[in-house]
Amino acid sequence: MKVYQIEVSNLCNLECSYCPHVSQQRPKGLMNRSTFEEAIQLVLRCGQDQVWLHNFGEPLLHPDLAEFIAHASAEGVQCSFYTNGLLLTPEIADSLANAGLRQIRPSDRCRTGVRCQSAYTVVVSSLALKRLPRESSIS
Ligand code: SF4
Repeated sequence: MKVYQIEVSNLCNLECSYCPHVSQQRPKGLMNRSTFEEAIQLVLRCGQDQVWLHNFGEPLLHPDLAEFIAHASAEGVQCSFYTNGLLLTPEIADSLANAGLRQIRPSDRCRTGVRCQSAYTVVVSSLALKRLPRESSIS
């Protein structure tokens, strides 16, 4: 199985001791839209329809993340990513779900943090509710 990743951000709001983010020598920043669109075309040319949007940074720091995911979805590529969860809110969860996010995973740091765990639960709930058939209801 091949795993394709597009690093939309190598900035992070944490400095976990085990992570290469802290010691990386590359310039830090956010991917621009044209580079992201080129990367999606490359993913398609490789015959892939799924991609992860994390590497050595926090994807939720990218202000255009939902737009990127919507673009990828429109091109037939499903996006997922790992996150530390610190920036998740119900509003962001909704926008990511609406953009077509496939799945979101908590990083190790997130799994041990109460605040992150709670934010993660919000997103999982949001994505799960989004996928319920319209006629479904919760009582
Ligand atoms: S939150 Fe993730 S990307 Fe950021 S320093 Fe920790 S492991 Fe690395």
